[in-house]
Amino acid sequence: MARANWARAAMLAALLAAVVFTPFSAPAADDPEVAAYRRAVEQRFAAWLQALWPDAEAAGVSRATFDANLNGLKLNWALPHLVLPNPAGPDGPPLPQSLVKAMAPKHQPEFDSPAFYFKEGTLNALAATGRAKVAQYRSALVAIQKQYGVPASIVVAIWGRETGFGKIETPNDAVSTIATQAFMGRRPDEFRPQLIAALKIIEERHATRAQLKSSWAGAMGYTQFMPKDFEEFAVDFDGDGKRDIWNSIPDSLASTANSLKSQGWDGGKTWGYEVQLPQAFDCTLQGPDKARPISEWVKLGVARVRDVAFPDNKLGDSAFLVLPAGLKGPAFLATDNFSVLKLYNNSDVYAIFVGHVADMIASNAPVKFEGAWKPVERLPRDRIQRFQDVLVAQGHDVGKVDGLAGFKTRAAIGVTEKRLGLPLTCYPSQRVVDAVMKEASAARP
Ligand code: CA
Repeated sequence: MARANWARAAMLAALLAAVVFTPFSAPAADDPEVAAYRRAVEQRFAAWLQALWPDAEAAGVSRATFDANLNGLKLNWALPHLVLPNPAGPDGPPLPQSLVKAMAPKHQPEFDSPAFYFKEGTLNALAATGRAKVAQYRSALVAIQKQYGVPASIVVAIWGRETGFGKIETPNDAVSTIATQAFMGRRPDEFRPQLIAALKIIEERHATRAQLKSSWAGAMGYTQFMPKDFEEFAVDFDGDGKRDIWNSIPDSLASTANSLKSQGWDGGKTWGYEVQLPQAFDCTLQGPDKARPISEWVKLGVARVRDVAFPDNKLGDSAFLVLPAGLKGPAFLATDNFSVLKLYNNSDVYAIFVGHVADMIASNAPVKFEGAWKPVERLPRDRIQRFQDVLVAQGHDVGKVDGLAGFKTRAAIGVTEKRLGLPLTCYPSQRVVDAVMKEASAARP
């Protein structure tokens, strides 16, 4: 969801965005240096929490709720990607190297093939359960589609993707998780309002503190809403007077549909189509900034897979090319609805996953990708990030410099491959990264 972009994008990085994390292991708290450091940081955290009071009060949180939930609150040290604060303040002496080393994550995340996220067995299982859920909640889903224009298959696919239809536990205490992210996560400014919103949920008795369980990114309920998403998009659909994304499936699914609709979902359009590109197609033409009518893509030789024609009445619709694995994987033409799915979770593979599972649910049959997800090289994420820095210095727009290969980075790679006379792939490879890094070090005085 728009407000929770980072949180979702980060969780996605773990789950979907072509990155594999080895399980995160928190540093040993029995190391005396680590224990002393944690105590010092917890003290600063307690003071920081108290300083939130004016904002909480202005948002309508009572002192009683504030004290009951924040006094004595502990940091969640098990969260990944924490930025270690210096208890001596920004001008204090730097943290000792021994401590930094003890607190560092044990493994660097690497890229893996997007194929990893599209395992046939997983897709088939989600689609099969999804079809059963569509049948089970048919009357609610029909009413949801009528009201919000979002097909049952899409909301059910999101439900399956986010929590395996409620089977995947999100065991963290949302308040301490979100407070930790706001205090020492990588995007503190995005989490601070989420913490106030979580307190408001408790204040207004939508849920109890004990019910507020979340992922490590602070997302809650069947379809993983952040507290601000709840505030903005949650609806009471089963008519019991409560907006209950924790226990009511109709409320959860309708809230999801409402969030998509509110953020621009067009009920007259699909999410996208898998397509076949002509030989040696220019993969730098990908991304929403290069959208054009479907009829124009057809003129360029882009066709739907399995010899199915585009519907005549859709030829004028604007669509853009999505190549999540560059020329090493299937190709898609996506509509603006694809971009709305990305507001829910900011990644091409997430949106394709949801759209594809939705198609499988709706078609009532296994649907395979026609294009193959070919193996791609695994590169450490921090190396991609340095590579992106150089691309930016060379004048490319790579989107966020985050070590992930979003469409802007992929297009910039394609432009670079052309310039260097390398085979065109539009995907990170050792070869293009080495060539660009070599140029950069040669250019250094
Ligand atoms: Ca309800």
